[in-house]
Amino acid sequence: MKVRKYRCQECGSLDTAVVRDSYSVTYTCHSCGVSIVRRRVKQCPTCGSTDLYYEAGLITGQKYHCKKCNYIGPLVFEKEVVEKIEG
Ligand SMILES: [Zn+2]
Ligand SMILES: [Zn+2]
Repeated sequence: MKVRKYRCQECGSLDTAVVRDSYSVTYTCHSCGVSIVRRRVKQCPTCGSTDLYYEAGLITGQKYHCKKCNYIGPLVFEKEVVEKIEG
């Protein structure tokens, strides 16, 4: 686990964040008490849906499959999602 500095999006103060893995970061602001999760999610390049699942094929290789538009391919977008944890 790594610790990084993050600026709170609620009150703007700098705080430390615990980096669990390369895809998700959780931090709790000590000034205003808010908890934020930043996650990187995969996004379908054709319809923009994040409802993707990963298919590992033996011959075809690794591919993503979009549940919404049925896109199948190795190419997906990544976007960062910021979520506030209430309570
Ligand atoms: Zn704050
Ligand atoms: Zn799609």
